[in-house]
Amino acid sequence: MIPTVDSPTATDVRSDFPIFEEPLEGGKPLIYLDNGATAQKPRVVIEAMTECLSRYYANVHRSKSRLAMRVTEAVEAAREKVRGFINADDASEIIFTSGTTMSINAVAQAWGPANIEEGDVIVLTEMEHHANLVPWQMLAREVGAELKFLPLTDDWQIDLDRIPEVVTERTKLIAVTGLSNVLGTVNPVADLAKAAHAMDAKILVDGAQWAPHEPVDVRELDLDFYIFSGHKLYGPSGIGVLYAKREILDEMPPFLGGGNMIDRVYLDHFTEAEPPAKFEAGTPPIAEIIGLGAAVDYIRNLGWEFITAHEARLSQVAHAKLSAVPGITIYGPAPEHKAAICSFTIEGAAAEDINFLVDRKGIAVRHGHHCTMPLHDKLGVSATTRASFGIYNTEEEVDALVEALLAARKRLK
Ligand code: PLP
Repeated sequence: MIPTVDSPTATDVRSDFPIFEEPLEGGKPLIYLDNGATAQKPRVVIEAMTECLSRYYANVHRSKSRLAMRVTEAVEAAREKVRGFINADDASEIIFTSGTTMSINAVAQAWGPANIEEGDVIVLTEMEHHANLVPWQMLAREVGAELKFLPLTDDWQIDLDRIPEVVTERTKLIAVTGLSNVLGTVNPVADLAKAAHAMDAKILVDGAQWAPHEPVDVRELDLDFYIFSGHKLYGPSGIGVLYAKREILDEMPPFLGGGNMIDRVYLDHFTEAEPPAKFEAGTPPIAEIIGLGAAVDYIRNLGWEFITAHEARLSQVAHAKLSAVPGITIYGPAPEHKAAICSFTIEGAAAEDINFLVDRKGIAVRHGHHCTMPLHDKLGVSATTRASFGIYNTEEEVDALVEALLAARKRLK
């Protein structure tokens, strides 16, 4: 059930997530601090998917049977919910994909070669996830474009002073993460959109981490592309969103050919359907789309006011308490400039060993390069441990993490 109290607490929220009902193997309660990797699912999402699969499942857009019409309506209702969630102008601007990685690759492979040519520049930053780096490397190699990088300041924010030097008339695209999955830095996307548009370039924002933590209004920010995954947003995996302005989608070639994306097919050619169908060839992940719609409803009912205030408090508390662990280095800006993501190293303790030992206390974190090898090169470490928080986490869980880290440190010394 969605909490109906005026001001929910993390405890109210927690009771919406069945995974927290049962202790882990060994009897310890689950302390889930790996939300940057994927988030847990509230009951409303699980029930929405189960209801579809068990009561009104059929293929979409294919039949006039009542069953097919009902499921098609549910899928289109979910599209409308996602439209409202990011304040897009029209539901046809919401393309369902399998996730952030697919959405970025789709833009790179379909929009890229039609709009970027030899000598053009794609601007990225030094903090990008491999999903917003490798597809552009592939495109640059294919068309002979150049990649340029906005560097980071000493306090791990994008150095906006370097824009005039990096973003020039040759720039065709700025592709940037809204929120760093390692540093927690929240990026000045509106400034970057203005910088891109001043050069007649486009802006693409990777919202994989940003979407669950802050409200995003694509029209107010004037984003050309905005991309995110369902599974980090308390929704299912296997479903993601590619938003693009309608005039871009009208011009962009399709990236998958097959059923549903056509208007008419002849033996030797085809004509395209209108967006969004133009980009949704084949049977989509039907129950997952409906689950994403339920996740979006859940977040909106909970309210951004609660989510942002709760996570800002957790971020401050986590930063303050983790800073007291001897030998720790926390990477990223000051807590007031970042989301509730803490990546850190502890002197003399390997990230993998820390992960192993805190897991024995029932605490799930993640270690490694978090798909940001170039950023880790810059940090000067090959791996960090990351605690990433979400709507159901509590200050007591921060205390439990600190206690587990102190014990791990003692063991590993
Ligand atoms: N971008 C960022 C910033 C991420 O953190 C992630 C996943 O961790 C991705 C992109 C890729 O998302 P997905 O694996 O859902 O495609």
